[in-house]
Amino acid sequence: MEDNCIFCKIINDKNYLFENDLAVAFLDNLPVNLGHMLVIPKRHARTYFDLTEEEIKAMFDLSLKVKEYLDNLYHPDGYNVGFNIDECGGQSVFHCHMHVIPRYQGDVENPRGGIRKILRLKK
Ligand code: AMP
Ligand code: ZN
Repeated sequence: MEDNCIFCKIINDKNYLFENDLAVAFLDNLPVNLGHMLVIPKRHARTYFDLTEEEIKAMFDLSLKVKEYLDNLYHPDGYNVGFNIDECGGQSVFHCHMHVIPRYQGDVENPRGGIRKILRLKK
């Protein structure tokens, strides 16, 4: 638990949908698409490259649960999964997180190019 870390607080408050030994998953509060979720290690690790193999495995396992959940709820047609790493990579919360972003046919005009094309949903 790191002071002033919003993701450590989510873990501490048990404010998540899924967990296993080393990871938790919850909805992104500013989703780029319907069902955007984050999978994070329970330990306050800064980036993907600071994770242990066991944490990576736990996050992978949880991403499968997240996919099953989102498939059943929203029936997406595809996904973008990934990490932003350090300021220069676009990271804004410095507790490692895997973005799991469902994609829907027609959510962008031409999806070729993947994450390069995704737009923030209008609220
Ligand atoms: P990144 O820009 O890769 O560091 O992603 C940080 C993500 O965390 C963004 O998608 C935010 O919308 C999301 N986020 C920030 N604060 C919260 C929060 N309290 N609960 C859920 N998601 C959050
Ligand atoms: Zn943290």
